[in-house]
Amino acid sequence: SRQYSIFGEQLGQGSGIEELMDDLGHALASGGDEVKMLGGGQPAHIPEMNAIWRRRMEEILEAPAELDSMLCNYDPPRGKPAFLAALAKILRENFGWNITEKNLAVTNGGQSAFFFLFNLLAGKHADGSTKEILLPLVPEYIGYANQSVSESFFRATPPKIETIGKHQFKYRVDFDQLEIKQNTAAICVSRPTNPTGNVLTDNEIAKLAKLAEENNIPLIIDNAYGAPFPNIIFSEANPVWNENIILTLSLSKLGLPGTRTGIIIADEQTAAAITSMTAVIGLANSNIGQALLEPLMRSGEILQLSKQIVQPFYLEKSKLAQQWVHEAFDEQTPYRIHLSEGALFLWLWFEGLPISSAELYERLKKRGVLIISGHYFFFGLEHSDWQHQHECLRMTFTMDEATVKDGIRIIAEEVGRAYAQA
Ligand code: PLP
Repeated sequence: SRQYSIFGEQLGQGSGIEELMDDLGHALASGGDEVKMLGGGQPAHIPEMNAIWRRRMEEILEAPAELDSMLCNYDPPRGKPAFLAALAKILRENFGWNITEKNLAVTNGGQSAFFFLFNLLAGKHADGSTKEILLPLVPEYIGYANQSVSESFFRATPPKIETIGKHQFKYRVDFDQLEIKQNTAAICVSRPTNPTGNVLTDNEIAKLAKLAEENNIPLIIDNAYGAPFPNIIFSEANPVWNENIILTLSLSKLGLPGTRTGIIIADEQTAAAITSMTAVIGLANSNIGQALLEPLMRSGEILQLSKQIVQPFYLEKSKLAQQWVHEAFDEQTPYRIHLSEGALFLWLWFEGLPISSAELYERLKKRGVLIISGHYFFFGLEHSDWQHQHECLRMTFTMDEATVKDGIRIIAEEVGRAYAQA
């Protein structure tokens, strides 16, 4: 077989995220009848939001100049100027952040934003050093794991686990274990966190921001689910940004993953570097999401929609899914749900589970339920013998009620069986 470069070996030979997206895409393409797809990060089709996308498409179709500009023109590499101006204004007015278009750069989804950012900051440097990305808390987003163009550059700190009552828990950053090294290029967290639904507290974020600043490295906050949009956040948490924080946003979880639109909010130098990378790698980005959103951004309507439609929709989904978990699991089964503070998932922990979560995944797949085994989300750990990594699973609660409820019933049966057989 053909020999590849290190880059080719790292990126061109399959990955966990590829398998996941392939399963997801095919399950959705088949109409979802064959499997209960609780595995992917697919946002729901919220009828009120889809009506808005339809309305915007009709408005664009009726304005020939807009249609021509959306389909027939390249955007500048940084993004659509009117979109960037409207976004900068929203961020200034709502959060008081000192932001202009020069602090922004559009990317081909948040996923690409992270590929650019990580490889911009970490990896081999001209001075001979090899730099790393520090994940102050794992489990963390599986999509980061394979993004290095050379050796893996993640180092992760396991969290403190706070148990809450009989059936809940929350991860907290273990600041006693957290160590910034000479070769740490950046700290990175998703908030709300995929896979757990955790939202790092304002205090945790303030401490991480201070640590980053003291060490002259950026703090990257992946805000794919956060404020101001899509605002899939159920706890009290304030968004933060300053010149030392790189914040990313995405239109995906608003309901537009097909438009592949991500946004980086950063210091001017970083935003310019991302823009340069876009030009080299892709010339420009898709402008369809930006064209759809631009007037909603300019009027501020997108903030109301996020608060009044998207957030309550997912909060309800989360509550229902938790209720079904409590109903489906035998009280004697040692199950715990991570506090659901945002995002699209429940993260379940089965302490002392007699089989690995990877084996549980296989058994569930045989029964037509797709989840993600939790072990994928624990990357970058120096000691891999931590049993907890093999005791968790992530399930998405965005699908229709029958699918989610039935899926949970089957998960509870299989988990119960695994404990009973031990
Ligand atoms: N970051 C997090 C935490 C995510 O969960 C996702 C998608 O699931 C992404 C980034 C990337 O999403 P997209 O590329 O669709 O913006």
